[in-house]
Amino acid sequence: MNQPRTYILGAGESGVGSALLAQKLGHDVFVSDQGSIKAKYKNELLEAGIEFEENTHSTARILEADQIIKSPGIPDHAPLIVQLREANIPVISEIEFAGKHTSAQKVCITGSNGKTTTTLLTYHILKEGGLNVGLAGNIGQSFARQVAIDEKDIYVLELSSFQLDGCFDFKADIAVLLNITPDHLDRYDYDLSKYAASKFRILQNQGPEDHLIYNLDNSIVREGIQALKPIANQYPITLNQHAEPPFDQGAFCFEDQLNITTQNQQFTMKIQDLALQGKHNLFNSMASGVTGRIFELRKENVRDSLTNFENIEHRLENVGKVNGVSFINDSKATNINSTWYALESIDKPIVWIAGGVDKGNDYSELYEMVDDKVKAIICMGTDNKKLRAAFTGRVEQVLEVRSADEAVRLAYDLSNEGDTVLLSPACASFDLFENYEDRGHKFKQAVRRL
Ligand code: ADP
Repeated sequence: MNQPRTYILGAGESGVGSALLAQKLGHDVFVSDQGSIKAKYKNELLEAGIEFEENTHSTARILEADQIIKSPGIPDHAPLIVQLREANIPVISEIEFAGKHTSAQKVCITGSNGKTTTTLLTYHILKEGGLNVGLAGNIGQSFARQVAIDEKDIYVLELSSFQLDGCFDFKADIAVLLNITPDHLDRYDYDLSKYAASKFRILQNQGPEDHLIYNLDNSIVREGIQALKPIANQYPITLNQHAEPPFDQGAFCFEDQLNITTQNQQFTMKIQDLALQGKHNLFNSMASGVTGRIFELRKENVRDSLTNFENIEHRLENVGKVNGVSFINDSKATNINSTWYALESIDKPIVWIAGGVDKGNDYSELYEMVDDKVKAIICMGTDNKKLRAAFTGRVEQVLEVRSADEAVRLAYDLSNEGDTVLLSPACASFDLFENYEDRGHKFKQAVRRL
C-alpha cells in the first residue's frame, strides 16, 4: 500500500516537528515554505533526508497531497489554502496531527491573554509534582517533534486560536479557557464571534471523563459555555467574592484567600503567597492550581509550586527604578485587554508607552483607566494616527517617538519621583521591532542607559 502523502506548509518549529513525526510514521513527506527557511531548520531537514522547497509553493505537487499540515502563521484565506479546500484535501494543524499519534494526556490552555503564563505555571506544578510531563504548543519545541522524539505521559499545550482552527478530532483531556476578549480580529473578518468560535474549539470532542476549567467572570466565555452545554466535568473560576463555594467544583477568591474545590476536596492558600501578583494572575494561578488538583497532586506540592514559580520576561516585568521612577516592561501586551490589566495593576501616575501595529483595537475600553491614571502617552509606532486620535484631549501630553531609546528618555523626562513608566503597547511590534521580545529587550537596555 502506498504511504499517505503528508505535505507540510511552513518550515518553522511546528512544520519541521510535523515533518519529523510524519517521517517516523513512514509517510511520504514534503515540506514547502513560501519564504526562506531558517538555517537551523534547513539543516535539520537535510540531515533527516526530508524533501523540501523554499521561496515557492509548487502548487501542482501540493495539490496531490492526502493531507496538509499548515503552519498556524498561514491564514485560511491564502490562495493555496482556498485551492486545497476546494480540492477537498484535509488541511490540519500540527496539534491535530501530533494528537492523533500519541496516547499522552493533554492539558490544553487557550484564551486571549495569559496562555503562556498559565501554561508555564501549570507545567511547573505538574513537573514539581513528579509527573512525566512535557511543554509544547506555542512554546519551545513543537508538540509533533516531542511526540516523534521524546514522548511524555502528559503534555501541557499552549494553543492559539489559529492552532485550534486546524483541529477537528483533537481532544483536550483537560481544557482551560482563560478569557475571550478582542484580538487578532484582522484574521477573523473583524468579527468577534468568529474569533470566539475558534477559542471554543478547545471543548470539542470532550466527553464526561474529561475536564473543563473556564473563567466564569468573562461574559463571552460564560455565555458560550451556557449555550454549548459541555458534558465534561466543569470547574468555573471566579474572582467574585464568595464566603461559601458557589459551585461543587472550581475556584474562587474570598478576602485574601484563594479556594479550590475538586472531587469534594478543599484547597486554600493566601493570595499574598502567590508568586504571580496582580488580579489577572489570580485567574492564571486558579486555573493552574485546579489542574494540579485534578491530577491529585498533594496540596503542599501545589501550594509550594504556586509560591516558588519564577515570573517570565516581558509580562509586567519590573525593570527597576531610576531616581525614584519605576520602569515596567509589559512588551507582551499586544491587545487592549492585557494593557487594561497592566494599567489596573499600577496605582501611581503612569507615563504610558503604547502603539505599534494595531490589530483592530477599540481604545475607548481604556478611557476610564487612562483618565484616572495616565499623565502622558508616548506613541511608539510608525503610524500613530489611531492612538493619537483616541487620546488627544483626554491626556495632557500625547507625544510620538520612533525608537525605544527615544521613548525611554522622553518618558523619564516627563516623570517625577514616584511615577511609573509602563511599556504596554496594546499592539504588535513588527513595525519598529523584530518581535515583542526585541521590543522588550530594547526598552530594558534603554532604561539601563539612563
Ligand atoms: P498570551 O500567551 O495569551 O499572550 P501571556 O501570559 O504571554 O499571554 O501574557 C500576555 C499579556 O497579558 C501580558 O501583558 C500579561 O501581563 C497579560 N496577562 C496575563 N494573564 C492575563 C489574564 N489572565 N488576563 C488578562 N491579561 C493577562
